Amino acid sequence: MELGGAEVIMKVMTKVGVGDDILNPALWTVRNLVHNNMGNKGIVGGLGGVESLIKVIGKTFQGKKFPLVESALTTLVNLVVDHEKNCRRLLKEGLEVLIEVAEAYENVPEEDLSGGGGKETYVEGIKNNAALATSLLQMVGPYNFLVCSNCGMKQASGGNCASCGRAISFAVDMT
Ligand SMILES: [Zn+2]
Repeated sequence: MELGGAEVIMKVMTKVGVGDDILNPALWTVRNLVHNNMGNKGIVGGLGGVESLIKVIGKTFQGKKFPLVESALTTLVNLVVDHEKNCRRLLKEGLEVLIEVAEAYENVPEEDLSGGGGKETYVEGIKNNAALATSLLQMVGPYNFLVCSNCGMKQASGGNCASCGRAISFAVDMT
């Protein structure tokens, strides 16, 4: 596929109000495009593919569309696996969303389970999503350190700086 085609798909994915029937094939196209293809991983990453997928994951997860979340997560796996720059992009943009999805299985709200027939499908959907999000978090693990914007100290987690005590945001070292 040519660069232009990938660019169009990226726009489709993040378009407001895009239908699921369009979103799903778009995700599959990207998924196939970057599968075991370092060149395409770089191109799609450069076009903002990681950020686009994170947006899709956040939105579909919010809407409890777990099969679509799964499509987007597997696409993201293909995009970042063995690709350091895309891993760093994911770390910078996607940590919050991935943690939310990964932890959701532990915290399924009671009211979501009381709906009757769909319960098992629902739990299964969340479980698969959580497993994929966890794998992604493990993939970016080696690049996972933050830099304090105040004193510049590198550290493994957010919260307060271990050196100067100032609150640090998720500022990731992109070097
Ligand atoms: Zn500091």
